Amino acid sequence: MKITDITMQKAQFAFNKPFEIAFTVLYGFETMVLRIDTDEGITGYGEAGPLEYVTGDNLDTCMVIAGQFREKLIGMNPLAIQSIHRIMDGMYHGHTAVKAAFDIACYDIAAKRAGLPLYKFLGGDDPCLESDVTIGIGTPQSMAEDCLSWKKSGFNILKIKLGHDIETDAERIKAVRKAVGDDIVLRVDANQGWSVKDTLQIEPLLRQLKIELIEQPVRDFDFEGLKEIKTGTCLPVIADESCHLPQDALRLCSMRACDGLNIKLMKCGGIEKAIRINAIAEAAGVFCMLGCMGESVIANTAAMHLAAAMKNISKIDLDITFFSHCDWITGGFTSEGGKITLLDEPGIGIRVNGF
Ligand SMILES: [Mg+2]
Repeated sequence: MKITDITMQKAQFAFNKPFEIAFTVLYGFETMVLRIDTDEGITGYGEAGPLEYVTGDNLDTCMVIAGQFREKLIGMNPLAIQSIHRIMDGMYHGHTAVKAAFDIACYDIAAKRAGLPLYKFLGGDDPCLESDVTIGIGTPQSMAEDCLSWKKSGFNILKIKLGHDIETDAERIKAVRKAVGDDIVLRVDANQGWSVKDTLQIEPLLRQLKIELIEQPVRDFDFEGLKEIKTGTCLPVIADESCHLPQDALRLCSMRACDGLNIKLMKCGGIEKAIRINAIAEAAGVFCMLGCMGESVIANTAAMHLAAAMKNISKIDLDITFFSHCDWITGGFTSEGGKITLLDEPGIGIRVNGF
């Protein structure tokens, strides 16, 4: 099997309403959609959803580097995913979002060629999973209202963005728990917005409110701070922005700095690297969450397949398509509230019209 052509296109998606997290407000997102054609008539789709202040790359660098990868990869076997990663990593350090686009498209081709949905190709047997939905930062009252409305639309797990001053954060999380009651799972993500002291100060309240876990309380580089927090609480502590690549996972796990890792295809460079991170975590007794960036149903569904296949990925944070819609990229999965069922179609199972 040979790659005969690779094409890229920028795509824009708007959020239904502005979305605020600790360090920015987001109005929508742009991605690069990638198509790989082969000499066997099988086409694979991938996507890069860079987030400059997390992944260090942006859409323009993705387009330029994708063009350079294209030159190297046309004529290669798309099933040789290990070699393709070697080539991409040999050309550029980082730039994980564009690497993820190529990786996802190759896995789409490999699973289509095997005649299997990607989750089965990866060794999974269950197409069902349940995602949380993320609540952006607002006033305590607006967040409580948001949470109640997601609960009413069938979501059982809510991820609450915090990470501003802890006094207001405390009011926010109290208002949310009061609004949704005790039968909803609440996890919090401070997106690096707290110090170690902030976190340990708000921790008794989080325990009292039966919060499920604390995600990325401190700055991404502060592995020691993460470890201090993990040591100081019985609540699970998850690394997100601290964990990009398998080598980050290895360091975090070796240091016993966290209880869980939030893997995102755009941070690590795709499914192949995500599998390595999950293997490191599982060997260390650390669970994984699978999260997402600004991405359409292409990358989001690819991540769902991976999460469905890997038993150690026990928390799902793949909610981006609940906030935005797109009529030219369809399929992938059906959902009711946060309960997702992957389609029983070969590959990722998405359809892209006009590209
Ligand atoms: Mg996060």
